[in-house]
Amino acid sequence: MRFLVLIIMSMLLYSCSSTSKQIATEMKREDNKKQTKNIEKSKEEWKSVLTDHQFYIMIEKGTERPFTGEYWNVFEDGVYRCAACGNELFSSDTKFDAHCGWPSFYESLDSTKIKTAVDYKLGYKRTEIMCAKCGAHLGHVFSDGPNPTGLRYCVNSASIKLDSTSTDSIELK
Ligand SMILES: [Zn+2]
Repeated sequence: MRFLVLIIMSMLLYSCSSTSKQIATEMKREDNKKQTKNIEKSKEEWKSVLTDHQFYIMIEKGTERPFTGEYWNVFEDGVYRCAACGNELFSSDTKFDAHCGWPSFYESLDSTKIKTAVDYKLGYKRTEIMCAKCGAHLGHVFSDGPNPTGLRYCVNSASIKLDSTSTDSIELK
């Protein structure tokens, strides 16, 4: 009889621990969801957190005049984040001078950081680039970039913010 009680108790204990394990896994899943969750804001909400110029570029998909932005001629070390949501987008290691007046990168920090769309706004096909996390317009990607990718991510300075403190924490993938 005592043996039976022991078996039942150990079964109960086992089921308890597996339940808590399940909860821990669920919580972890929730955490991951939170990390990858996209930011969705209305135009009015964006207007209240961005400057008028940023709103024009990032939400209304405008383009700043060349050689006027903050970063076209900056080559300091750091990580360029989305100016709207802070998402890490580009490393200064991949920034190059494309002589076009806009900050240019030959590679994004990670392919999941940026999403693209076809854009015929100027009458010919271009590939628009947006922050994958908040959808803000960044610029366009062209296939006339240098090695090793042959790509040129042409980005508006208004869409990015240089974070010169996080160079060590970011690894290129
Ligand atoms: Zn963003």
